[in-house]
Amino acid sequence: MKKILFTLFTILCVTTMNAQHNQTYLTLNNGVQMPQFGLGVYSIPAGDMTYNSVLTALQSGYRHIDTAHAYQNEANVGQAIRESGIARDSIWVTSKLWPNEYGEGKTLKAIDRMLGRLGLDYVDLVYFHQPIGDYVGGWKEMEKALETGKVRAIGISNFDVNDSIWNSLVETARIKPQIVQIECHPYAQRKHWQEMAKKHDIKIECWFPLGGRDSKGEILRDPVINQIAQAHGMTAAQVIIRWHLQEGFSVIPGSTNPAHIRENIGAFDFALTDAEMQQIRSLDREARYFNMSYEDQKRWFGQWNPTD
Ligand code: NAD
Repeated sequence: MKKILFTLFTILCVTTMNAQHNQTYLTLNNGVQMPQFGLGVYSIPAGDMTYNSVLTALQSGYRHIDTAHAYQNEANVGQAIRESGIARDSIWVTSKLWPNEYGEGKTLKAIDRMLGRLGLDYVDLVYFHQPIGDYVGGWKEMEKALETGKVRAIGISNFDVNDSIWNSLVETARIKPQIVQIECHPYAQRKHWQEMAKKHDIKIECWFPLGGRDSKGEILRDPVINQIAQAHGMTAAQVIIRWHLQEGFSVIPGSTNPAHIRENIGAFDFALTDAEMQQIRSLDREARYFNMSYEDQKRWFGQWNPTD
């Protein structure tokens, strides 16, 4: 009897550990399916901290990791993926190129170096991290990388500076981006950029979904969100992430805390009503937490380059 109970307990533990939480996928404008939810690893120090966070996420059911050359932790992300025991083709890996890697004769080589750092044969999504430098020339090589299968989707990040910067890439591109990554959360819902993206069936992926570190938990303390959370017996973070999912955004909350990592994927375990979605939509005040001017971005981001 003891043995049977132990076996049942073990099966239950393994099932819970591998729970997929009925995750959802977005179909991109090139037909590729992307897991809608993932772990972001911005500002997680390279080494054990990144490795352990990614492994915890994968063991908790996450199937999407968002890194960048600029985060300087791609090698640890790749190592955790390779050592997770999970099939490579069921994990979505995103990374981003820095402006010094854009240009004809440069971008394809930079993608090869990225694959080397990750220790992977292909990467699922590559973004241009910032709208600075020769992104028009570089995009031609992003299109080639997509066509040769080194990359399954190509996107732009932070091109929400103004319409003219957005159009200078999106309107001239032979292959339109599949996805755009921008700051987006209940306090800054980015309605204009939702309209711009819709024109070419470009999906939106939200960074700072919980407001980011500098928000000091402001959205997590919002009374409307907490009232909804209480009604469902869920947490404020789960409600915010659930709102993103039901809006059709991709969402990549960051954390190194195993309890938060597990909590955040619990957003798949309940649903918000139409009225609750509307209540959260009404919190929009287009108030971003990252407010550096484009001129300052060019100055600061142009000054610094990631090492290989
Ligand atoms: P976030 O909004 O995901 O917030 C992270 C903060 O929330 C951390 O301080 C974390 O400890 C805390 N947190 C996480 N889960 C919590 C929970 N359940 N309860 C309470 N607190 C919780 O901000 P982020 O990590 O900066 O952004 C998400 C990801 O987006 C990044 O990791 C990165 O991958 C990406 N990103 C991209 C850009 C870009 O320029 N493209 C910029 C910023 C972030």
